[in-house]
Amino acid sequence: MCMGQINQFQSLGAVDGPGLRYVVFMQGCPLRCIYCHNPETWSRDGGESYTVDEVLEKILRCRAYLSGGVTVSGGEPLLQSPFVIELFSRLKQEGLHTALDTSGIGDTTCAEALLSVTDLVLCDLKFATAADYLKYTGGCLDQVLAFLSLTEKKRIPLWIRHVVVPGLTADPAYIGAIRRLAGRYSNLQKIELLPFRKFCAAKYEALGIPFPLAGTPECSRELLDPLLVL
Ligand code: SF4
Repeated sequence: MCMGQINQFQSLGAVDGPGLRYVVFMQGCPLRCIYCHNPETWSRDGGESYTVDEVLEKILRCRAYLSGGVTVSGGEPLLQSPFVIELFSRLKQEGLHTALDTSGIGDTTCAEALLSVTDLVLCDLKFATAADYLKYTGGCLDQVLAFLSLTEKKRIPLWIRHVVVPGLTADPAYIGAIRRLAGRYSNLQKIELLPFRKFCAAKYEALGIPFPLAGTPECSRELLDPLLVL
């Protein structure tokens, strides 16, 4: 049986897809985003191992409250596609809606099979150019765009999310570029702009890792609001 390395569970999440959702945070991420809120998920060795049966049992205990369904997030779920495929297949048998919260980077060899059991993709489009993507995440924008094309080919509803970071992406021209990139995909349903926050600073301190944006201000309402209506 397939085992999953999981960082944590959230039994009632309201921000990772529609409705109230059970959220499973997978362990391990190939990126190192400059604003990452979950550095504790980076290492592939951390977290705890669970079988699909064990995770399913936890989810089904909360079923009565799950008006939305289940989201698998991370870390990066594409690093553990076989586990997520098995979990999503079982959830669909139970009639539960499945959402994949991903950067679009990871092991994409199984991505097509994974998308076959995914009802909604939430994809973070972190930066609008290949140079920025590489500089601020360590990853390759082309891989993300290839993944997004696959979601379009499979006709999976797509929500694009973007963290608005003062000094990096918080201006109308940059957000316009993000919107244009996202708008290429006919399966796009929604773009969510999320303000950069620094609640994660304590996590970096506890892990002994410097937080690269320690000196960057949080994204205020005044900065965010005009970008929402572009
Ligand atoms: S993809 Fe997510 S978990 Fe990975 S480094 Fe970026 S923000 Fe952090």
